[in-house]
Amino acid sequence: MERQKINIFGPCAAESHDQIITVANALKERNVGIMRASWWKPRSEPVFDAKGKLIEGVGTKAAPWFAEATNMGITVATEVMLPIHVKQVMRGIIKNGGNPEKILLWLGSRNQNQLIQRRVAEVMLDEAPSSVKLMIKNQPWQDRKHWVGIVKHVVGAGFPPERIIMCHRGFALGNEPNPNRLRNLPNWEMAMRVREKTGLPMLIDPSHVGGTRANVWRILKEAAQFPFDGVMLEVHPDPDKATTDAKQQLSITDLDQILQICGK
Ligand code: PEP
Ligand code: MN
Repeated sequence: MERQKINIFGPCAAESHDQIITVANALKERNVGIMRASWWKPRSEPVFDAKGKLIEGVGTKAAPWFAEATNMGITVATEVMLPIHVKQVMRGIIKNGGNPEKILLWLGSRNQNQLIQRRVAEVMLDEAPSSVKLMIKNQPWQDRKHWVGIVKHVVGAGFPPERIIMCHRGFALGNEPNPNRLRNLPNWEMAMRVREKTGLPMLIDPSHVGGTRANVWRILKEAAQFPFDGVMLEVHPDPDKATTDAKQQLSITDLDQILQICGK
């Protein structure tokens, strides 16, 4: 029997209650079990709102929205950049009456401090039930040993490999040809080797590889030729108005077609 895919859809960043619940409903209608949305979103360069406040994501304001989504049966996924984020997500969702079993956390590509990676794993062991998994995205530069090394650090901290999922989000542009102007270049061979070497499920993130809607579709289709175990892909109720990554987010009305390509 074919393995069930691990598919994760949702906005780049959590923005509002309405946005999160709209996406959660669209996923529920289609039997998709996991929704993504980042609580913390520091920008490449500091960006300020009209009141001069640094924009770095809604943070724990998203806790009640996520709690509500867990009670709709959706597993909610967000990036943890610091060990304290693990506590904030777990406790925030519990405090708001949500289901702490239905959470997935991930280490993003820029978070390449091995001590932080280990501490995140340790705090998860203290704070999260065993159903809560940790996804590891690859670092921005091409280096298979470094990528596998993150897994070794996390497992070395006592975190069970059964609770780890991998995700390929492409590598920063080097001197390789890039005729389609992708945001990051996939290395299909390396992703497949890491999948084999670690024995862990490997997802593809066509959004951060693609960078534009046309490229996201292109990568989603190209990835279907490889035995990925699922996709993490950004969808938004109103992509053009998204506060982050507006150019690459697909619409929730695209979900049926996305699912046809990547499989359930
Ligand atoms: C993300 O998935 O929200 C993200 C920021 O991706 P990456 O860490 O791969 O850049
Ligand atoms: Mn994004």
